[in-house]
Amino acid sequence: MVKRLFLAVFVLMLAAFQTAQAQQVNWEPPYRVPEYFDRSIAPYGGFTSMGPNGPYIRFNPDMWFRAPSYMNVFLRAHEYGHIFSRGPFANPEANADCWAARELGRTDPQILDQVIAYMLNVMGPNGGDATHGNGFQMAQLIRQCSGR
Ligand SMILES: [Zn+2]
Repeated sequence: MVKRLFLAVFVLMLAAFQTAQAQQVNWEPPYRVPEYFDRSIAPYGGFTSMGPNGPYIRFNPDMWFRAPSYMNVFLRAHEYGHIFSRGPFANPEANADCWAARELGRTDPQILDQVIAYMLNVMGPNGGDATHGNGFQMAQLIRQCSGR
């Protein structure tokens, strides 16, 4: 189990390195939790769970390696938002998006602007689901929370 986690962390570090090469990312979570790849969370791109030793985050590799790197930066911040956000909405997905938007708006506004453009122009009315909202709704919430 430990071996498998180590391998997964290594693979994720490679992915993070690729992301860092694509674009400078300043954002870091308040503290890191274990992050690894797991196809079984499909259709979700990311999933935060509470384990016996605390929270951990899984990413869907099939989506991670296809998505633009800035969307993965946002996805990662969103998953950390499930750990650190405290409101203000009833919907935990909106809280996670809002938390991620505030964080990235502060540290990486140029990345957040790319995320907003992607949601408006690529996802549009089709992206997301009932709990996350479509691309337009997500972009609006992110703007509201970040002031971008
Ligand atoms: Zn979420």
